[in-house]
Amino acid sequence: MYQRIVLVIARLPVFSVLFAIALSSVFSVSTFAANTIDGIRLWPAPENTRIVFDVKEQPDYKFFTLSKPNRLVIDFSDTKNTVSLRNLAVNDPRVKLFRASMSQGKTRLVLELAKSYQLTVFPLAPAGQYGHRLVIDLYDENRSKQIIAKPKQSAGDIIIGIDAGHGGEDPGSIGGKGTYEKKVTLAIAKKLQRVINQEKGMKAVMIRSGDYYVDLNRRTSLARDNHVDFLVSIHADAFHTPGPNGASVWVVTKSRAESELSRWLVNREKKSELLGGGGGVIKNTADSHLALALADMSKEHSLGVSFGVANNVIKELKKITKMHKRTPQNGNFAVLKSSDIPSILVETGFISNHDEEKNLTWSTHQQRLANAIHQGIKNHFLSHPLTGSYFASIGYKSHKVRSGESLSVLAKRYNISMSKLKSVNQLKSNALRIGQTLKIPRTG
Ligand SMILES: [Zn+2]
Repeated sequence: MYQRIVLVIARLPVFSVLFAIALSSVFSVSTFAANTIDGIRLWPAPENTRIVFDVKEQPDYKFFTLSKPNRLVIDFSDTKNTVSLRNLAVNDPRVKLFRASMSQGKTRLVLELAKSYQLTVFPLAPAGQYGHRLVIDLYDENRSKQIIAKPKQSAGDIIIGIDAGHGGEDPGSIGGKGTYEKKVTLAIAKKLQRVINQEKGMKAVMIRSGDYYVDLNRRTSLARDNHVDFLVSIHADAFHTPGPNGASVWVVTKSRAESELSRWLVNREKKSELLGGGGGVIKNTADSHLALALADMSKEHSLGVSFGVANNVIKELKKITKMHKRTPQNGNFAVLKSSDIPSILVETGFISNHDEEKNLTWSTHQQRLANAIHQGIKNHFLSHPLTGSYFASIGYKSHKVRSGESLSVLAKRYNISMSKLKSVNQLKSNALRIGQTLKIPRTG
C-alpha cells in the first residue's frame, strides 16, 4: 500500500505531493491505532444510564472520575474513535456532553456528568449481532432505595408486576420484517398496565417502562421491592424457521426433566443476558436445580398460583390467538426463579412467523393479548382471592342445583376446580341434591 502511494507521488506536482503526504499521515494514524471505537449508544433508564462502546478488538482501557465539575474520563489505549460525539447525549439526563482527544494513539473520552454516580465498567465479549463492547453503567446513588413510581394503591389491591422482556442493548428476537421483540413486549406491557389499573382491586407495576435493559436478577428484585403479588413476564417467541406459531405460557420448572423447547428458551434467556450486558452471569442450570430442590413451602404455594394463573391465561388466549401449547409449559427461567413471587412467562406468539410478526405489531391484536392476560389473572384471583384483598371481599354468587347438574358440570360451567367448589361449600362428597344452594366464587 505504501509503495503504491510513493509511486503516485513521484509522478505528481508539488501541490499534490503535499496533499498526498497529508493523506498518508492520516493513513498512518489509523494503522498505528490497533483498535477503533465504531459505535456509541446511550440507554437512559429510570435508575441508571448505560453507555455502550462498540470496539473492533477487545478494549484496553483505564478510567477515573473527576469532580467540580463531575466528569468520567476513559482512556482507550491504541484506539481511534470514529464516532461523531455531537448530540450523542442530547436525550440523557445524566451525561451532559462527550468530548474526545487523541494523543500518541490513545483516545481519551471525557463525559461531563450532571452529578456524581455509582459506576460499573465492564467489557463484553462478542454476542449475537454485537462484537466487542465496553459497557459503562452510571447508577443513581440512591438506587437501592428506589421504588418504581406506581399509581396510588388502595388497601386490598393485588399488585401485578409487568415485566416487558428484553430492552435497550438486547432487542430480543428479530422478525423477518425487522420487528424487535423488545418493542412488541413493551407495547403489550403498556396496554396490560392500562387495563389492570382500570380494574378495581388490581394495580400494575412496570418492571421496565422504556427502551433500556434491566438485568434479570434486578427484575425480580424490583418486583420484590415493589411488593408484587404476581409477576407476568411478556415475550414473543422465535424459531430458526418461519413455520412455528402460536402463544404459550410458561411457569418455572420444578423437575429435572426439561423439554427440548424449554432448553432452547432458557438458552435464549442466557443469550439475552449476554446481549443486554448483564454485569453478573446467570447461575448454571445445575445450580438452579439445586436452588429449586431446596425451595420451601412458600415455593410450593407460589407454584400452585403460577399454574392456576397460567391455566386461566391460556383459557383466555385461546379465544383470541393460536396456541403453540395448550397447557402450561415448564421452563427454568431466571426471571421466574424468585421463589417467593408466583409468576408466569407469556410467549405471545412467534415473531419469526410471517403472519404473527404482523399481528404482534398491530395495536388491536396487542390490546387483545393484553386483555386476555388481564382477564386470565383476574379470573384466577377471583376464584382464589388473596386473604384481605378486594377480590376476597366481593363474595360469591349463589346457584340452586337443578336436575342433571353434577359437581363436575358446575365446576366446568363456573370455571373453577371441583375441589375449590367442594371446599367453599364444605361438601364432604361429590353428591349434590336438587334444590341445594351452592356458593360459587366469582370469576368475573
Ligand atoms: Zn424474549
